[in-house]
Amino acid sequence: MARAWTLKSRPQGLPTADNFELVDLGRRDLGEGEVRIANSWLSVDPYMRGRMNDVKSYTPPFELGAPMQGGAIGTVVESRSDRFKEGETVQHFAGWRDEAVLPADQVQPLPQIDVDPQAYLGQFGMPGMTAYFGLIEVAGAQEGDTVFVSAAAGAVGSTVVQIAKAKGCRVIGSAGGAEKCAWVESLGADAVIDYKSGTPVVKALGEVARNGIDVYFDNVGGEHLDAALAHGKQGARLAICGMIDVYNSGKATELRYLARLIGMRMRVQGFIVSDYMDRAAEFYRDMGGWLKDGKLQRHETVRDGLEATPDAFLGLFSGGNTGKMLVRL
Ligand code: NDP
Repeated sequence: MARAWTLKSRPQGLPTADNFELVDLGRRDLGEGEVRIANSWLSVDPYMRGRMNDVKSYTPPFELGAPMQGGAIGTVVESRSDRFKEGETVQHFAGWRDEAVLPADQVQPLPQIDVDPQAYLGQFGMPGMTAYFGLIEVAGAQEGDTVFVSAAAGAVGSTVVQIAKAKGCRVIGSAGGAEKCAWVESLGADAVIDYKSGTPVVKALGEVARNGIDVYFDNVGGEHLDAALAHGKQGARLAICGMIDVYNSGKATELRYLARLIGMRMRVQGFIVSDYMDRAAEFYRDMGGWLKDGKLQRHETVRDGLEATPDAFLGLFSGGNTGKMLVRL
């Protein structure tokens, strides 16, 4: 019997386990062109919080009472499509469940890179692509730039750190707590700010970036974004990837240094990774090269069992993960 987490109610503020319900999906025969996949890895990602709200956005909201969705890796256990054979490992978007029945055109084979399959949900998947295109294309990071990245111990941030180092940048990361900061440093960051230490981010950043920053890769918003505005050099580029600090509160951020954008001719640009999907080959080519050269490390925080999925998701908002947060089935 297949089971899936559905959205039971829409959260106000921080979601709780009560917003989700585990239901039996039953089992139906495959139609022509469909495949049945036994999921082995599920992704939980911060953007899912936005989809829990009933508002118009770049992705439609999750429907009440319907299974949640998200990236997943699994094995084809039954196939009525000539595109996939039983036993093949594939990726698709019907996560938050143990078994998925999908038309074959909604299923993709895994790219041919020598990494564990679950890496395609993290460093070699959507979060890695976000880091790659956000840093190189949106922020235009160049050799010699000083790059500041928030949530640097997370899936996107830890990849930003390593790509920026591979590109010859000076890197300053920010993360919550000494242990995470030590890990970010082990990835090659030149300086790391513990934003939970009590020192305001604007002060801490000023101490490690005395000449200012050329690039800010924003995963957090709020105090981090304001600090980047305070220390942006002439012509600094701010790539706005995410603002996890405001996803639950929805609170407006006070940006005391916003007006520095003008005199410093800074550029601020938001982006969505899906706009770059047709350029995935460039991402795999460069990431594959850096992997071979020993320039990429990966860490995953793994929760076991389908039952653990909401808890894994909620852990993203309290810093429960180092590297990519995953659920293993
Ligand atoms: P992470 O793996 O970075 O997990 C989230 C991390 O955010 C936590 O571990 C925590 O780390 C940190 N965090 C949570 N709340 C706060 C807070 N209030 N202030 C500061 N840090 C906080 O997630 P991802 O790498 O998957 O995503 C990172 C960001 O990128 C998110 O904002 C996400 O929405 C965005 N994103 C955007 C995409 C796009 O296309 N634009 C695509 C993919 C992701 P710590 O312990 O250090 O606080």
